[in-house]
Amino acid sequence: MKFITSSRQMQCEALRLKRSGKKIAFVPTMGALHAGHLSLINLARKRADVVILSIYVNPAQFGPREDFKRYPRPFAQDYDLAKTAGATYLFAPKNLYAADASTTVQEKQVAVSRCGELRLGHFDGVATVVTILFNVVQPDIAVFGQKDAQQCDVIERIVRDLHLPVKILRGPILRDAKGLALSSRNQYLSGEEYENALSLPQALKEAAKSLSPQRAEKTARHLLSKNPQLCVQYVEAVGGRLCAAVMVGKTRLIDNVPLKR
Ligand code: AMP
Repeated sequence: MKFITSSRQMQCEALRLKRSGKKIAFVPTMGALHAGHLSLINLARKRADVVILSIYVNPAQFGPREDFKRYPRPFAQDYDLAKTAGATYLFAPKNLYAADASTTVQEKQVAVSRCGELRLGHFDGVATVVTILFNVVQPDIAVFGQKDAQQCDVIERIVRDLHLPVKILRGPILRDAKGLALSSRNQYLSGEEYENALSLPQALKEAAKSLSPQRAEKTARHLLSKNPQLCVQYVEAVGGRLCAAVMVGKTRLIDNVPLKR
């Protein structure tokens, strides 16, 4: 695995790979890698000659009162996991923005509801960094997790609207043995919070059996309200999936499941 921190070097390398006819698959992450990330690398390996994994904790997608500073950064462990998973390149830039950067990318339809409404500016940060990363990495394919369903929708819209020459692939949600969707933020949870967090996938799974999307939303809200340790931010049926965000203590968790009917 080659390790690169310079954007210029990464871009030169990517252009060289493309000139030599190699197909590049890209997996962007913020690190603190878990089996969900590794499953995306696996998917990428099946679809391309070269897999570029990026690790960048993007300051632009965190709000002022969010967890940018305390976001886990276990770099040595991530390096080993990326290598074992079969990434060809690990791209871990220190910074991706010019000191006086004055350009952003904003998607104005898909990004405004749900997580976009609750985390103002979040998707602008995501849209901008993903566009920068696509320009640096020059991927033919980029793999994102269905766990962040709205993020996938926003990115697909940007790719369509800006005619970006990249195919977006969605990887399925990886869960732990008790059903909680894997997330780098799960390590914030205390033992008790973890047990409470399990109510989220349980409620969504049960509610997804409902006869209509409206019923599914109502059932999920009802089931979640039974656990007073959860603070529900939203429950919404969108695009054939039942999506929700909750706070467990200070930790924000999101999840989604397919609606059954
Ligand atoms: P993050 O490092 O949290 O920004 O996530 C990087 C990528 O991994 C995103 O495309 C996420 O959607 C994806 N991802 C995060 N958690 C999971 C999971 N449990 N299963 C599959 N993909 C995931």
